[in-house]
Amino acid sequence: MLAKRIPTILPNLTFEEALEITKLHSIAGILKSENGLIQQRPFRTPHHTISPISMIGGGRIPKPGEISLAHYGVLYLDELPEFKKETLEVLREPLEDREVTVSRVMASLTYPSNFMLIASMNPCPCGYYGSKIRPCSCDQRAIQRYLAKISGPLMDRIDIQIHVKPVEYQKLEKFSKGESSATIKERVNHAREIQQKRYKNYPILCNSNLTPKLLETYCKLDTPSKKLLEKAFTSLQLSARAYTRILKVARTIADLDEKERIEVKHIAEAIQYRMNH
Ligand SMILES: [Zn+2]
Repeated sequence: MLAKRIPTILPNLTFEEALEITKLHSIAGILKSENGLIQQRPFRTPHHTISPISMIGGGRIPKPGEISLAHYGVLYLDELPEFKKETLEVLREPLEDREVTVSRVMASLTYPSNFMLIASMNPCPCGYYGSKIRPCSCDQRAIQRYLAKISGPLMDRIDIQIHVKPVEYQKLEKFSKGESSATIKERVNHAREIQQKRYKNYPILCNSNLTPKLLETYCKLDTPSKKLLEKAFTSLQLSARAYTRILKVARTIADLDEKERIEVKHIAEAIQYRMNH
């Protein structure tokens, strides 16, 4: 449910983004001419039976895959461990480079693939591991096999990992109304504006695109933040990649908080999103 609401809080498209998306959809032959320029960020939800080629692109005359059709939008993979391992592994490079090169005998083409990956999965095959509502009926080996489908390197590229506890029906009814999507979207748009202003002299749009050099300039940490991150790095045995990704997430949390400098609470929150597996 959470994943499906994401499009309602995504930042507005810039004209340049809209052009790029429209071009990719046109190349893929899925643009409906009556629509003209695409005005909404894509939200792609491929089925778990999808092949690696349909995911990253290819074919005799290489066409954009799902990751390029999700450019500037969301690629949502429901029930992540149900996908073929090969299909998931091909996501690693584009998640890093934000583009993909597909080579075939006829041609070699590079398509942009700057997408946000959202994935959901159960804690075990039956879905009740760790639940207080119902006991889990899976044996340990089955759970391990299930979780092993998501490789460490892929997990490492997922910046925010949250364990959502099942909710009892009675509690669902009592839930007070949260913030509306419109209010959240306003905040997201504002954070995006801050970033566009900050990076106006660079060929990047937002924090997730920060290069190592720009990271040094715009993600400077004070001593308490540095100490906290160092501690987390050792105790959680984080990779160098996770380290820079935590910095980028913290930068975004600080932007949402309208703070120019990253503070220790922003770093703490970003680290927390890495502790759920
Ligand atoms: Zn289970």
